[in-house]
Amino acid sequence: MRIGKLQYSVRVAVIAACAAAAVLFWPQSSLRNDAADLLPGAGDPTYGLDALAEQRAELVRSIERHVFATRDRLGRAQLAPRVVAALEKTPRHEFVPESLRSLAYADRPLPIGHAQTISQPYIVAIMTDLLDLKPGCTVLDIGTGSGYQAAVLGELCAHVYSIEIVEALGLTARERLARLGYDNVEVRIGDGFAGWPEHAPFDGIIVAAVADELPAPLLEQLTRGGRMIMPIRTSAGQQELVLAERNSAGAISTRKVLPVRFVPLTRHPD
Ligand code: SAH
Repeated sequence: MRIGKLQYSVRVAVIAACAAAAVLFWPQSSLRNDAADLLPGAGDPTYGLDALAEQRAELVRSIERHVFATRDRLGRAQLAPRVVAALEKTPRHEFVPESLRSLAYADRPLPIGHAQTISQPYIVAIMTDLLDLKPGCTVLDIGTGSGYQAAVLGELCAHVYSIEIVEALGLTARERLARLGYDNVEVRIGDGFAGWPEHAPFDGIIVAAVADELPAPLLEQLTRGGRMIMPIRTSAGQQELVLAERNSAGAISTRKVLPVRFVPLTRHPD
């Protein structure tokens, strides 16, 4: 059917009038949403989380490069895929003070109050990886601090027992880990030097504070085939990360990994 010129103009005018009415009378909130959709991430409550996950993934890539660069000292060139996944999942920004959140995904230690620090992510990564933890493992974490290391271990193991000597830090970490859903991590306030015999033996033990030697009670709580990692003072006044392994016969062997800087393992004045 052929449409006459006049008929055509009328149709165009009617359509234009309807469109104008739609724009004028459309609910305001809906218009605002349409505008918001044009801004990247605006109006999307998960946008910030995605951005943090991206920063975290970038941090993990940089840790992997650092691991490769230090492969001779570490005795391995790559992190286990399970450890990479745990690092990519653990929200480090939840474990640093609010004022330092913008630095949460930089590869550096940060102050957490009480003269203590949350360790550098590269150090957390290698200390965790060198333990060769298997699914279902039970681990001991000495020096809970912010709880970040314990959370990473919580992603990898069935049970994590973590001890912190500074009460205020231990209580905050316990509350934080519970809020974030780490039900398999238990935090105790006390001196970690003596370990946690009620839950021994452990497949792995991480100590995040430096001492003159590996504490004997901790070595005793290591299962056969289990590993412990901890910074130890050298005679030259430096610190070295030491990896200890208990073999199937129960004997302990140790290996120096690399120079580090940790806060001291303090003792309760008895
Ligand atoms: N793993 C922590 C790093 C904390 S720094 C994190 O991921 O944030 C080391 C921590 O060890 C400090 O919080 C310090 O208070 C604690 N610490 C020092 N001596 C200790 C001891 N004897 N027993 C338990 N914790 C100790």
